[in-house]
Amino acid sequence: MAEGSAIRGSRIGSGPAGDHERGEVAPRTRVNFRCARGHEFHRFFASDAEMPSTWDCPRCGLPGVGEGAEPPKAGRGESPKSHLEYVRERRTDEEGNALLEEALERLRRRREI
Ligand SMILES: [Zn+2]
Repeated sequence: MAEGSAIRGSRIGSGPAGDHERGEVAPRTRVNFRCARGHEFHRFFASDAEMPSTWDCPRCGLPGVGEGAEPPKAGRGESPKSHLEYVRERRTDEEGNALLEEALERLRRRREI
């Protein structure tokens, strides 16, 4: 039944072709990019060409940042979070103070009565 399938499955022809292709390719540099949504992709550039620091993501179109390049910090990413945290902290502090004063007031009233 499955007589020839096992023999046919051996990859005799794939090796040399790949090697040949590798040897012929001119020196190129692979640059990894990563977009703001986390898509990772890469592009090859001629080693003597100027490599761009950003490249549009093929999936979502957002600019991807090249490996080694500094990520474009808009300043928005972090500040809202820390600001929120700051506000939150302040809020709980105020609430804590209010509760404390309320408790003190009750204590005072109790004593007065
Ligand atoms: Zn993307």
